[in-house]
Amino acid sequence: MAKSESNSKSPLEDVFVVDNDVHIEEPPGLMAKYFEPPYDDAVRRYEKSYRYRDTPGYMPGMKLGDIFRNSPASKHAKRPDLTNGENTERELKKYHVDIGVLFGENALKIPILQSVEYANAFASAYNDYLIDRFLDQSDALIGAIAVAPHDPHAAAEEIDRVANEKQMKAIFLPIGGLDRTYGHSTYRPIWEAATEHSLPIAFHSVGVDFPEFPFNMHKLPYLTRHTLAHELSLVVNCMHIVNEGIPVLYPELKFVFLEAGLSWMPMTAYRLDREYMQHREQAPLLEKRPSEYIDEFYIGTHPIEVPENPSELAVLLEQVNGEETAVFATDIPHHDWDDAGAIQSMPISKEAKENIWGLNAKKLYSI
Ligand SMILES: [Zn+2]
Repeated sequence: MAKSESNSKSPLEDVFVVDNDVHIEEPPGLMAKYFEPPYDDAVRRYEKSYRYRDTPGYMPGMKLGDIFRNSPASKHAKRPDLTNGENTERELKKYHVDIGVLFGENALKIPILQSVEYANAFASAYNDYLIDRFLDQSDALIGAIAVAPHDPHAAAEEIDRVANEKQMKAIFLPIGGLDRTYGHSTYRPIWEAATEHSLPIAFHSVGVDFPEFPFNMHKLPYLTRHTLAHELSLVVNCMHIVNEGIPVLYPELKFVFLEAGLSWMPMTAYRLDREYMQHREQAPLLEKRPSEYIDEFYIGTHPIEVPENPSELAVLLEQVNGEETAVFATDIPHHDWDDAGAIQSMPISKEAKENIWGLNAKKLYSI
């Protein structure tokens, strides 16, 4: 809860706090100089007119900068300008956040870009933009290396290129609109590069309409689509990487799943365990129940469930092994961002809350 919004003391004031999901903006005018030819000139052209060039182009369904920022739906009176490290750190300080983990807005949609070359170019430009304008400006910010899933060998090269930046602490795998979910063997170069550089994998969901499951829901109402796209995209990717034994093949790898709350994970673990009992031959690499691997995965709290009885959240937390793996996430500056209230209201120990506020993220990102 922001100091400015309440007279009572925030639970975050005296503890170490990591916000695991902070969204920076990547307006084309600022991003253009980080692109190589021939894309630099094309991206620069969007600077003055990108409002009218929604799709296809810079990024399908792209955010609209100032227009979006001032949406009345936002909890902020004015959406903050998160296009540089100084502003971003200042914004996070208002909420007593010590470290913010940054993710792009448009970078969430890299998988739906049609051109493999442009997708790779976008990921590289994003990483350079992130380093130059954010990480080099603030020690309170850490980054996740964006890669295009279209070409896992190029993705591994991109990880090698920027992994030595000291504030790059994870690999950002966008999930919205994947052709193949992440259990597929084609992605092994990414797991190998992540292992080599000791970087955790951050899966971040997003709501998009796309012909591949689970995003082919264009005939459903937005409420249903938006709910399902976030949850199901994490469910299917979590199930698929476990089914294919990725945690067995790469035992050092850590994974965090962001932006679908907590409740999808118990369902995933329970159902996969049940099916595993009947079809073990389908997952020959597994050495224990699927749920035991899932228990080791980290999970972002946003958008946290809102049961009338907060004790139900404590049950959910236990089901996801959350005292060890849940990481606080606000999703600032999105209109549906979470404050500290839900976690503060949970009937759990002070130590468990401190783990969620920041200590679990400290383990996850080695900070
Ligand atoms: Zn987010």
